[in-house]
Amino acid sequence: MRLLRGPPYKLWTDLGLEQTGVRLIRPAKQNALPSSDGRTLVVDADLERTLAAIGRLDRADASRFAAFFEEARRLSRTVIEPLRCSPPLPPDELENHLSRSADGRRFHALASWSALDLIRERFRNERLRALLAFAAALRGYLPVLDVPGTGYVVAQAVAGLVDCSLVEGGSYQLARALAARLYQHGGWALAGERVAGIAVRAGRACGVALASGGFVAARRAVVSSAPAPFTLLDLAGREHLDRSLAETLAAYPWNGEALMGIHLALRQAPRFAGQDADDGAGALNLCLGYETSQDVERDLHRVRAGALPSAVALHASVPTRFDPSQAPPGRHTAFGWQFVPSRPGGGDASFWTPAACERQAAAMVTTWVRYAPNVADAELARAVHSPLDTQRLLPSMWLGDRHHGSYHPDNTFGRRPCPELAGYRTPIDGLYLCGSSSHPGGSVNGLGGYNAAGVIAGDLGLDPWWRPVHSRDALAALAA
Ligand SMILES: Cc1cc2nc3c(=O)[nH]c(=O)nc-3n(C[C@H](O)[C@H](O)[C@H](O)COP(=O)(O)OP(=O)(O)OC[C@H]3O[C@@H](n4cnc5c(N)ncnc54)[C@H](O)[C@@H]3O)c2cc1C
Repeated sequence: MRLLRGPPYKLWTDLGLEQTGVRLIRPAKQNALPSSDGRTLVVDADLERTLAAIGRLDRADASRFAAFFEEARRLSRTVIEPLRCSPPLPPDELENHLSRSADGRRFHALASWSALDLIRERFRNERLRALLAFAAALRGYLPVLDVPGTGYVVAQAVAGLVDCSLVEGGSYQLARALAARLYQHGGWALAGERVAGIAVRAGRACGVALASGGFVAARRAVVSSAPAPFTLLDLAGREHLDRSLAETLAAYPWNGEALMGIHLALRQAPRFAGQDADDGAGALNLCLGYETSQDVERDLHRVRAGALPSAVALHASVPTRFDPSQAPPGRHTAFGWQFVPSRPGGGDASFWTPAACERQAAAMVTTWVRYAPNVADAELARAVHSPLDTQRLLPSMWLGDRHHGSYHPDNTFGRRPCPELAGYRTPIDGLYLCGSSSHPGGSVNGLGGYNAAGVIAGDLGLDPWWRPVHSRDALAALAA
């Protein structure tokens, strides 16, 4: 799993994860988009190399990228990260704060575009456009890339293009590190138990009932990372909600997109076809099959309509290139994830029968082979992971929705998961939300939990050991 941020990332240090020995690897070559003509666009952690690569495609785009990259990094530091690392402001207050500083106004102006239009307005080269649209789509924005109000994700994606890492030993090592810190501080975790209900007495959450029959009492709070509709309608019960909130949650906008995955065991690393392609094969994130922004747009429309993409494009990677510990000596692992609709043909994840999985996996391997022909003979074994597998393993990711809800502007910032619940509190005393259906949404960033922890610490009168800075103060400081 690719983490979107590297070690300077605040949660990493706030939680003292480095003390557990978990390590992030940040490859020099970060992203690559090979093309059918054998040429590959590579984004390197070194900006000069990236600009040279873009310059070989289009010199003017290289200068435009340099300017946009600098602006995106600045806005990321001054506006985007403060907004993400803080409970969301109500929409009117946010607009007001943004209007008071140059960076705030700049962010607002970028955000008013659709992500796709902004990419096309800024850059001319189709490969660069495809790479940027793919980077935004990877953040869960594919179904809304053409919706005005999503432009900010381009700045976020561009700033993050050179910050991609993987966890040494596999991403479960991150979960182990989190658990280790929890236990070191006297906490404990009960894994593999399903919560059947949240007990509410006299309007207050007082514990959780386990599907296996047990009950875990809560002295001070119940905090749920399941999506808001599941937490409140299914686990707590709609009888504790007023009618309009229950109706809003029943109509919650899910993302509509899921990932279909193949994992390959290989006797050798994939080698790309073409003159400069092997340079790109050493990048962490590979974009295979999107060569123009129209390719991405095609999948946007297919996925939104509930149709399987007509051609296969993949987010692919070869983790063993950077972390040989993930395979026996000399062997390699690779994966490919494809964006698919979460409701294929208007149905649900049961679409993914073994036969449907096998068919799709074959098409996905064909795309791998198109760019790296040696994969055909190098394959030792494959495993398929469908949206149905995701839903079975993680009931929070309904229909495979890994971001717990759409990123339509109506469902982001102070509107996520709905204005009444945007502050992590719920109408039930002592019951809080902390997962990806809350601001700022999904991905392995822990920010929903971070923001909720600040709110809960305040409500319970605890003195947190970390120092949260509210975006209200960060934006006011910008205006000063
Ligand atoms: C295939 C795939 C690939 C991904 N790749 C990346 C990537 O490369 N980089 C990245 O940043 N993000 C990636 N993501 C997205 C990322 O994993 C999620 O956005 C993130 O895990 C969401 O975190 P969360 O804590 O909000 O929710 P979840 O991870 O969904 O956690 C909620 C937890 O609650 C549990 N739960 C739900 N209901 C119950 C219940 N009734 N009883 C008990 N437990 C319950 C679930 O089992 C789960 O453990 C990927 C996701 C998938 C599916």
